[in-house]
Amino acid sequence: MRQDITTIPISEVFEPRQGCPICRMQKMLEEHLTEYITGAAMMEPDVREQTNRLGFCAIHWEKTRQTGSRLSVALILESHLTQLTEQLFTQSRLSEKKRLQLAQNQQTSCFLCEKTEQSLSHLLETVYALWGKEETFRSLYTQQEFLCLPHYTRLMQESQKVSRDQRQFFREATTRLAQNQLTCLSQDITKFCAMFDYRNKNGDWGNSRDAIERSIAFLTADAVTKKEEP
Ligand SMILES: [Zn+2]
Ligand SMILES: [Zn+2]
Repeated sequence: MRQDITTIPISEVFEPRQGCPICRMQKMLEEHLTEYITGAAMMEPDVREQTNRLGFCAIHWEKTRQTGSRLSVALILESHLTQLTEQLFTQSRLSEKKRLQLAQNQQTSCFLCEKTEQSLSHLLETVYALWGKEETFRSLYTQQEFLCLPHYTRLMQESQKVSRDQRQFFREATTRLAQNQLTCLSQDITKFCAMFDYRNKNGDWGNSRDAIERSIAFLTADAVTKKEEP
């Protein structure tokens, strides 16, 4: 796969200062990769070999279906289903145990999850390096709206990759971005619940109307692509 497909300037991702920047990074990578495999790369043998082998998870089959033309998705499915038929049934020399293992693996392996993760970890290396050497980036990082729980966890677990002299500051800034958001969401959800009390019938909802959606997005790194509300 071409290397340049997932090159995203880090400052561009952090610039909007809205939502979790790592979620945004992940979504940009997913978008690029989904367009890539349903477009230019669809007929490339090495990419097809990988989509045949790995398939997609439920979220990414749906994303591929929404992104690609009907024909490009059908062509990806055609060779994937053909390979599965051969491996599981018609040409299989594997024992039943191994065939069932292969069938089970299909439910968890995903070309897009794997490629997105590879590119994301590559971009995060740049985040850690930038934090160590650029004051302007540190400032931009601390101005983010928040970090979601999964990305807070990951950044803290990988914080040893930040240069030693800047590490403690990185850990404090990262913690603050997650903790503040969790405190706000907690208050918004309590407010949301209170608004169902008849005594608050005509009260002000404040920021609480979408507290459910924002809380779930915070807890799950906004994993599920939301359908537009009708
Ligand atoms: Zn996130
Ligand atoms: Zn996936």
